[in-house]
Amino acid sequence: MMTTLNAIDTRHIWHPFTQHATARPNIPIIRGEGEWLFDAEGKRLLDLISSWWVTIHGHAHPAIAEAIYTQARQLEQVIFAGFTHEPALRLAEKLASLLPAPLQRVFFTDNGSTAVEVALKMAYQYWYNRGEHTRTRFIAFEGAYHGDTFGAMAVGRSSGFYGPFEPLLFDVLTLPYPATWEGDPDVAQKEADALEALRMLLEQYPEGIAGLICEPLLQGSSGMRICRPEFLKLVVDTVRDHQVLVIFDEVMTGFGRTGSLFAMEQVGRTPDVVCLAKGLTGGFLPLAVTVCQDEIYEAFLSQSFDKALVHGHSYTANPLGCAAACASLALFESGQPMESVHRIASLHRQQMPQLKESVEGLVAPRIQGTVAAFNLFSPKTTYTDNLGKKIERAALAEGLLLRPLGNCIYMLPPYCTASDALTEAYATLPGIIRNALSS
Ligand SMILES: *Cc1c(COP(=O)(O)O)cnc(C)c1O
Repeated sequence: MMTTLNAIDTRHIWHPFTQHATARPNIPIIRGEGEWLFDAEGKRLLDLISSWWVTIHGHAHPAIAEAIYTQARQLEQVIFAGFTHEPALRLAEKLASLLPAPLQRVFFTDNGSTAVEVALKMAYQYWYNRGEHTRTRFIAFEGAYHGDTFGAMAVGRSSGFYGPFEPLLFDVLTLPYPATWEGDPDVAQKEADALEALRMLLEQYPEGIAGLICEPLLQGSSGMRICRPEFLKLVVDTVRDHQVLVIFDEVMTGFGRTGSLFAMEQVGRTPDVVCLAKGLTGGFLPLAVTVCQDEIYEAFLSQSFDKALVHGHSYTANPLGCAAACASLALFESGQPMESVHRIASLHRQQMPQLKESVEGLVAPRIQGTVAAFNLFSPKTTYTDNLGKKIERAALAEGLLLRPLGNCIYMLPPYCTASDALTEAYATLPGIIRNALSS
């Protein structure tokens, strides 16, 4: 069966983020259960990347599967302009109750990139509708990743992923990002430099900046780079002194990933707009939301349609996605998922020192909630060699699904991952890295 599937895949499929000329054949996955994926030959893989950071309660969780089935028998989809439905309302009300009180107004989309597009449009048009036409610029951090649609690429342009499209991307003001790790002696200086750069931008463009966007506490794609919450708090306070709107892209950090239900809780500041996707449905269906404070929503109210937010998708607030998200959030009510988050975080903290001892070249170890990461040889994440790909292959041979970001190796497991399985992964890792380095 594996060969048939591979033949079709090779003939017809164009995979994401893949250089097909050099990529290994894609592995057909037949089934998932908890933290495990099973391939066509029945071989199991420990999903240490939560299937691109989305799976939180585990694969094929029966409660979420059941909720989707029940909803599908009732109402699978309905146009969301002029109509509404209970799963969306239940979800919106639930999210508003979980997020800090000022975040009340929910706009639905269907992936993280579009949630970011909506946030950017909300912030931009907020000023436009108020007649403040000079506030047209956005500030983003160096290394930020916000998705692959054009607005999201523009605010993530410094990630360096978008070379061919550079001329098409709107200008963005970029701030240095004070990435840090355990035992980093320079963190205070890096933060002071970033804040100074921020103050200069605010001075240079008085009343010229619409909003600042960031991934709170943890930049994902640029190499699991963490920053200190105190720093972000100062950033928020500084831009707010200049009326700049604050957008938190919690597409990856939301729903427990960083150790609290939302990263903003650790930052101690509430953004004007927040984007949520990935873990929203527990990793079952594509659904996203952009949640804003009422003041932003109110700037779009008018007798004229011109002031409306003219944005929507065919599957806006798809009832199946909403039902899955409600079921996922219901699972949090038992307290169990967050307990698992803390269990995994402490296991990372317990294992990392030993790993550092056993892996030559391990630098910049860092842990943020359920995410543990380190770099090989240089704290700067680079994609120039294919070390990451070699490690990925060596890990697969050991039954571990890893997907290093260049020389940054990270583990980001579903919360249900058994302590034994994760401990074993830690024990296997030094050998995997040795094999990759010598191959
Ligand atoms: C993954 C990601 C996105 C994009 O989400 P998609 O659903 O892949 O479009 C945006 N922002 C952050 C921080 C992400 O990690």
